[in-house]
Amino acid sequence: MSIQYKIHIDKIFEDIERARLSVNAHHIVKIVSVSKYNTSEDIKALYDIGQRAFGENKVQDLMQKTEILEELPLEWHFIGNLQKNKINNLIKSNPSMFQALDSIELAKELQLRLSREDMVLDTLLQINSANEESKHGFSLECAKDSFDQIKELCPNINIKGLMSIGAHSDNEKDTQKSFEDTKNLYDTLDNVNTLSMGMSADFELAIKCGSNMVRLGSRMFNY
Ligand SMILES: *Cc1c(COP(=O)(O)O)cnc(C)c1O
Repeated sequence: MSIQYKIHIDKIFEDIERARLSVNAHHIVKIVSVSKYNTSEDIKALYDIGQRAFGENKVQDLMQKTEILEELPLEWHFIGNLQKNKINNLIKSNPSMFQALDSIELAKELQLRLSREDMVLDTLLQINSANEESKHGFSLECAKDSFDQIKELCPNINIKGLMSIGAHSDNEKDTQKSFEDTKNLYDTLDNVNTLSMGMSADFELAIKCGSNMVRLGSRMFNY
């Protein structure tokens, strides 16, 4: 680990610290380092300076990296779109959290396989907070009903909160609105503790809007 890399990471911590203190001193933010474009060696380098949570968006990559890095006490987050034919492999790789549950159909299928393995999976509902064609997730309007429905139908899916990707826009106000809308929805849900919003380009804004988990890829690994 070079000095330059350490300085780069410290700068990220400072940015997060400043944003979270602007919310309040008790607002704790967790970093998930998104390693989807990176090697196991890159992950090991971040592990060596204290990072524990990593995110992948392809089941195949998750399986490979969890196997290669098996002896390290890492926490894996699956943050990608999950196809039904990959559910068994996702379960086999036993992630700490699945952040991208995006439909009732997927929830039912996931429930079936989880109950067969007698496993409970911590999960976030993905919210398509600006109704973008290019993004997966529940709409803001139907998310609360879907949350209640999944709670009732899927005892092996433990919904811990919401995940959203900020609206893609040149106008920061649009992105801010998508974060605020997601936070307002989050506040209506019972027994949740995780609001995963914010990536390399917008994590400070997301934290100011109430995010307590940021998913940082390029900013963590490229310097
Ligand atoms: C790739 C990815 C990230 C990280 O993106 P960066 O802009 O590189 O920080 C975060 N969340 C999801 C769902 C992703 O697919």
